[in-house]
Amino acid sequence: MLNIDLHSHSHISDGVLSPREVVARAAANGVDVFALTDHDDVAGLTEAQAAAIEAGIDFIPGVEISVTWGGQTVHIVGLRIDPQHPLLAAGLGEIRSGRTERAHRMAADLAKSGINGAFEGAGAYAVNKHVIGRTHFARWLVGAGYAPDIRRAFKHFLTRGNPGYVEHEWTTLENAVNWICASGGMAVVAHPGRYAFNARELHLLLDAFRALGGVGIEVVTGSHHPSEYGKFADLARAFGLKASRGADFHAPGEGIDIGRLPALPHYCRPVWQGWPETTRLQAVCN
Ligand code: AMP
Ligand code: MN
Ligand code: MN
Ligand code: MN
Repeated sequence: MLNIDLHSHSHISDGVLSPREVVARAAANGVDVFALTDHDDVAGLTEAQAAAIEAGIDFIPGVEISVTWGGQTVHIVGLRIDPQHPLLAAGLGEIRSGRTERAHRMAADLAKSGINGAFEGAGAYAVNKHVIGRTHFARWLVGAGYAPDIRRAFKHFLTRGNPGYVEHEWTTLENAVNWICASGGMAVVAHPGRYAFNARELHLLLDAFRALGGVGIEVVTGSHHPSEYGKFADLARAFGLKASRGADFHAPGEGIDIGRLPALPHYCRPVWQGWPETTRLQAVCN
């Protein structure tokens, strides 16, 4: 049974390890096939690919794109993308500019509550200055003593209705799926259990996603409670979508570690079915 983990972050977005360290951790955890999927940036993929060759594990180039759909933020993972594809590269560049502009508005909002210097403070926690996100603000809020831990930094700040939360329009679902597909990749809805949609809205999302050319949803992810795996496996089957598996690893000691997840329910069609170039995958999928 292969250990396949298709969702993880490095310090190119809001993870804490370098791409090389993330790959080493995947290898140490016994992962056979691994995808790095940083938020809105592909800058870690070259280093990760080289590290994966050294470590002897199969590497899948990925990305996690921030989208606004139905008034909420939705994340779309792209797998087997070509990071150099001009449409994808340009689209991600625009999202990163929007992120930086949002970070200024977040800092201004915190300043209204007497919390000053947040833009520079959060920026100091971001290795890649082009991808500043709420996690960097959360780490700074904890470091500066405004919150006791990351969870409460999000709970008391940075989430809707709290200081530091500002509305932001990411790209469209259509753009994200089109960019991924144009670059030769496959689009997967990340952690569908994490969105504040009711069942009808979630079905609309999956219908729209599939109509645009999306092919999968995450079923077994660090963001789903194990009791939810069956529900999302059923949903994938009902919507003719494939199933993905990934820890959504960000940092040692936070959440689920790379590759440390149960297998997909047996009746799922995995997203990796039919991936040609990985000989190890052919062995399990044929
Ligand atoms: P952003 O894309 O900048 O809005 O940040 C989203 C990221 O924040 C997610 O990918 C998670 O890594 C992290 N995040 C979101 N909500 C929480 C939470 N309640 N606790 C901890 N981390 C969170
Ligand atoms: Mn994240
Ligand atoms: Mn996500
Ligand atoms: Mn993620």
